[in-house]
Parts: sequence; structure tokens; C-alpha cells
Amino acid sequence: MRRATVVVLRATLVVAVVLAVRHWTGARPPRVGRASGTPAWDLLTLARADPVRPAGRIIGARQAYGETRAVVATPIPDSFTYVVTIPAGAALDLGYAVQALVFPAEAPDLAVPTRLQVEFVDAAEKAHSLLDRTVDIHRHPADRRWFDVRVDLAPYAGATGHLTFRASTAESNPGPTSALFSAPRILVPPAADEPNLLLVTIDCLRADHVGAYGYPRPTTPTIDALSAEGVRFAHAYSTAPMTIPSVPQLFTSTLFPAEDQPTFLTAVNGAGIPSAAFVHNVWIILWLTLGRGPAPPDGFDELVSVDARGNAITDRALEWLDRHRDDRFALYLHYLDAHSPYRPRPRQAALFRDPHYAGPVTEGFDAAAAGPASSYTAADRLAAAALYDAGVRYVDDELARLVRALRADGRLDRTVIAVTADHGEEFGEHGGFFHGRSLHEELIHVPLVVRLPGAAHAGTVVERQVRALDVAPALLDWGRLPAVPALTGRSLAAALARPGDQADDVVATATNPQFPTRYALRRPPWKVIEEVGDGSVALYATDTDPAELHDIHGQHDAETTRLVGDLRAARAVLARRGYQVVVIGSPARAVPYRLTLEETAATGSLATMDRIGDPSGDRVTLTTDGRTLELQGAADARPRGVRFDRPSSPLGGSAQDSLQFTLDVDGAPSDGTSVRLGSDGHAPSGDRIALDASLESPATPPCPTPDAGVRVCLWRYPTALTPVGSPAVHDAATRERLRALGYAQ
Ligand SMILES: [Zn+2]
Repeated sequence: MRRATVVVLRATLVVAVVLAVRHWTGARPPRVGRASGTPAWDLLTLARADPVRPAGRIIGARQAYGETRAVVATPIPDSFTYVVTIPAGAALDLGYAVQALVFPAEAPDLAVPTRLQVEFVDAAEKAHSLLDRTVDIHRHPADRRWFDVRVDLAPYAGATGHLTFRASTAESNPGPTSALFSAPRILVPPAADEPNLLLVTIDCLRADHVGAYGYPRPTTPTIDALSAEGVRFAHAYSTAPMTIPSVPQLFTSTLFPAEDQPTFLTAVNGAGIPSAAFVHNVWIILWLTLGRGPAPPDGFDELVSVDARGNAITDRALEWLDRHRDDRFALYLHYLDAHSPYRPRPRQAALFRDPHYAGPVTEGFDAAAAGPASSYTAADRLAAAALYDAGVRYVDDELARLVRALRADGRLDRTVIAVTADHGEEFGEHGGFFHGRSLHEELIHVPLVVRLPGAAHAGTVVERQVRALDVAPALLDWGRLPAVPALTGRSLAAALARPGDQADDVVATATNPQFPTRYALRRPPWKVIEEVGDGSVALYATDTDPAELHDIHGQHDAETTRLVGDLRAARAVLARRGYQVVVIGSPARAVPYRLTLEETAATGSLATMDRIGDPSGDRVTLTTDGRTLELQGAADARPRGVRFDRPSSPLGGSAQDSLQFTLDVDGAPSDGTSVRLGSDGHAPSGDRIALDASLESPATPPCPTPDAGVRVCLWRYPTALTPVGSPAVHDAATRERLRALGYAQ
């Protein structure tokens, strides 16, 4: 029988101090508090800081029953105790579940009935049960779920005592059963100056299809209204034309995000703020749960992949918001309804579709598979855009439901709402449909609208260029949370306060192997795009040619050289990270060479390719499956080559991987004697280079010029930073969803 009661807290202002100490040591506790206002008691933070952790107790992200939650997962039996002082007006908030996991599958048939208890023992040794519930996922299918409880702590206000969490069973052998306590916290109502955070990303939403950005069709009445009540950043730029790495860049506020890298959630979690993400794009889920350990450092309390239309995301969000109606919150939503294949709902489709159009672009149009735009008429392209617009309007209508709910319960004016996109979408402007294939404006100019608490700065338009990297620091800034030093962006608040200051350069990356690797730098009035494969460069004038139709680099050599130099400097970090391949010839004469490196197993892909040196005339080609890299040119005494990362593939296996190499010098095959690997320059075995620790070199190894022919040196920096990849996905349905998003090989 569940004794916990769900209690709605009165929103009274409370100043309280909660101290927690390790029961068994009596040591003074780590202070767990919010940056401002009242501290909160947060079990995950305390448990993570525990120097002693019994075998089997895991603090981290755990997927169960369709959600990934931040949990303390305990073996059966287990218990842990902290000393707490209960503040006035407080409630204990937690979720729990029981799971039996035989990796990687759920095995409820092997679970034992598990008793979960939370108990408060006061100074007079009187025990008060806060939760006492036996969960039997073997016999009761209805128990195979998360339970969320909220316990009013008002009766214990001011009391100091021991808070114990316990999982036990009457059975002698618990098997693979574990108890999951998700995000247990003692929460008090937030102070007036502690705003909530709501971040919304709309997949593929290009800025110029938003009403507030001048689009004449009625795609975005809600975003337009938020803009009127808030701040619109007229020149906001995503830093990649695809979800990965665009969303990781947004969260980490860095251009080349890696696994286990801090995100803005570090500050959210440190402040003990309940958080959740409801996301429709499985890539984002994979990335947000990625990490080498069981505990990605900066996850959400609840991360839910909502593989359905946007209304399901809104419904889940509203339920969660209702559960946290008296708490400060941080909520992230990602809508996919404008993404190809375009399948708008009839109500929105009717607003945009041309009833007289009878061409080939119909509902379900798959932009990713559409082929070149040249095989479509102007009317076809308009038809594709109309289907897309209807999807945008659908998401906007969902946003309207959210805003209405927050306005109705009085939270709108206590919430920072940021709405943006991970990237845009192309409708033939530069030869194609979909996204990912270029760094032109239609793919990286995104809407960015922020409604601040109390509608501060209502109606302000900031013309100064800003970046997706600036969003996370701004959320912390406006959310009155401490800065996270690893975030490299500059808070949008600075652009708002000093619109006339020099803007930061936008540096954008298109580094997924499906499309040619490109880097861009935008510094009005110029934008330069460099293609790594053939070393070509294009320059555009942002003010006179916003559509980027005229490459004028030949007319502005000095500008081009300077911008390309700055663009290379911006990605110099790559030269100290990942795999590096250097080809060097003899000073005597330039020798034609061709080097191919081919993955022998698809456990990852080669990505984030970039050139080493500046060997004009050399070509670097990466096949669209990311598995074969080819360098071709004429080697002289100047080192030239390529660097790359090797993110793990969600569709990859677990086989030991290697690169098979072939090297032609002067048109004749060359064997491995000219190849040096790792820090010691050892030779490969046969034509295989094992992708293992033997390749590592903490510093740039020597790669001397050969007396004749060419030398190839290949090594990997033993960096702690693993590039953003993806854990292997074994579930067939998820693999299919990845393919459906148009990315997976
Ligand atoms: Zn996307």
C-alpha cells in the first residue's frame, strides 16, 4: 500500500537551509544548493560525491519503461542514509521503479517482489514512513512503469533527522532485480528571482519561413507573439546544418563537442532544479545519454524519446509541468514535425497547399531522397515548401498550447522561453533539398526568439549576429544560474545589452561524411566557405548577396586569405585531437602518390575531416558511408595530410576494427615499409593498421622526409575527448528510425 501522498505546495516564500551529512561518518556535508535563493537537497549530487559506493550501486542514467532517468540504482538489498534538516514548505519529490536487466534486455520474469521505503527518523528516534511500496514486476505487469510521488514534508518542518532510502526483498535470491530511485529531492517553492527555463528546438526551421522574420505566410503566429513579447535575434546562426552536431553544439556551447563534455545542465543539476526533455529525434536521445561511464555528467532527470507527432510531446510536457507546478523547472522540447518526409496534418496543410498544383511533390515527399533540385520545377519546389510550412505551423500550434498553459497558471512571467532551430532546410536554393549538404544561409540562419520573465525587453530586435553557442550561456545568465566555465559562447544578454559591440564570428561546420566536409566563417559583410576535399574557397557578400549566389573570392584576394586564415585558426583545436595522417616526400622532387584508408568493419565512421598543411592541388575524398578516405596529390618535403575523428556508429558492430591501406607512389604499389605508426613509428602488419592503443602518441611524432618516394605517418592523440558519436543501437525499431531520419548508412 502506498502511503505517500501527493500534496500541492502553497507557493510561499521560504528561506531555509538544509544540511546533509553522511550518516556513517558524521562529516560535514557537501553543500548542495541553488545559486540563488534557497538550497535544495538533491540525492543524486550527494550520492555522486560519496567517496564510498557499495558494489552494484550505480548513479547514472538508466533507461527503463521508455524513459531515461537520472537514478540511484541499487542492488537488492541496499540502503543509504543522510542527515537532513527539513525546511519549511518543503516536499520530497522522487520517482521510482523496479527493473530486472539481463543486458541489454528487460527480464521482468526474473525479478523478485521489491519493497521500496523512504523513512525519516527524527531526533527523538521516531520513524515516519514517507514511502513504503512493494513493486512486483514479475506478477503485476501494471508495475512495469515509473511511479512519481510527492510527499508533503510540512509536518517535519524544522526537524533534523535521518532520511533513509531502502530497497529490500523477502526472497533469498534477488536475481538481476534492481531498484531505481529517480532524482530524489527535497524541494521548496522557488524565490521570485529564480526563473524557470524552457528551451524549444524545432528541427529544420529556417529563419526566413518565420513570420517575425518576414515570411508572408501564416506559419508561426505563436513564435511571432513570443517575439513581440520578447527579444528577437534577427541574425542568429546555427553552427552546423544537421542535428548532430548542431544540438550538441547548442548544449555544450562548443564547436567540436565531445562525449562527457559539460553542458549547461551542469548548472541546472548543481542547483537541484527538476529537469526533463521530451524529444522527437533519436539522434538527440543517443547523444544526450552518451558517455563512457554509466553516468553522463549532465543529463536530464527525465529524458523521453517521443516517437510521435508533436502533440504527444506537448502532452507529455504539460503532464510533467503539472507535476512540477510548484517547483522551479528546466524543460527541453524538440519537435520534428517539419522534418522530411513532409506529412502535414490536413488542418495545417489546407492553409498552405496550392489546390491547383498537380505535380509530383505530394504528401510524404522525402526531401532526403529527392535528388537534385534541377529535376524539379519551380512549382514543385513551392509545393515542397508548402508541405514544410504546414509542418512548421503544426509545431507552432503545439507551442501555442504550451504558452497558453504557462500563461494560465501564472508561470509564463517566471519563465525564460527560448525558441530556436537546430538548422534550416533547402528548397533548391543551392541545388538540393533537405539539409546537411552545405553551409549556405538557408541551412544555418535560424530563428532565435526569447521571452524573458515579465516580458522584459518586449519587442526588442537585436540585429547583431549571434551564434547557437551563445544560447546556453544566456540560459544560465537569464536563469540566474552560475556560469559553466567549459561553455565557450558569449551570453546573448551581452548582445542585448550592447547591440553595437563587435559581433563574434560565426564558425560553422559540416563534417558528417554524407556530404562534402566544409567549414564556414561569417563575419559581416563577408562569409567564406572552405571545402576540405578540393581545398576550394568561396566568398560571399552578406549585405548585397544574402542568397549567396555570387562567389566573389577572386575579386577579394586579401579578404579571402584573411578570412580563411581565421577560419583555420578557429578549428586549430582539431590538429591536437583525433587521428592524424601526414604524407611527406623528399626534397628532391614532388612524387605523385595515392593513399587510401578503408575501414574493415563498420563500428564507426571517419568524420570531422580536415586538412593538415596547405598542399594546393592535393585532393582528399571521404566516401559518403564515412568508411574510405583517399588522399591524392604530389608529395614534396612539406608535410600534408588529413586528420579525422572516428565517432562510434549507432549501427556499428563490436568487431575489432582496422584500416586497410593501399599506397601508390609514382603509379606503383608501395608496401608498409614507408608507413610509420604511433609514437614509436612502428610498421603496420601487412596492409592493416589496427585501430588500437598502439597508434597513440601524446605529442606529434617525428615524420622525417624520406630519401626517395614518400613517407606516411599515422597516429592518434590520446585525448580524453571522444568525438560525439553514438552508442551501438541493437533495437531494430530504433535503427529503422535512424534510417528514416535520412542520416544513417
Ligand atoms: Zn535536425
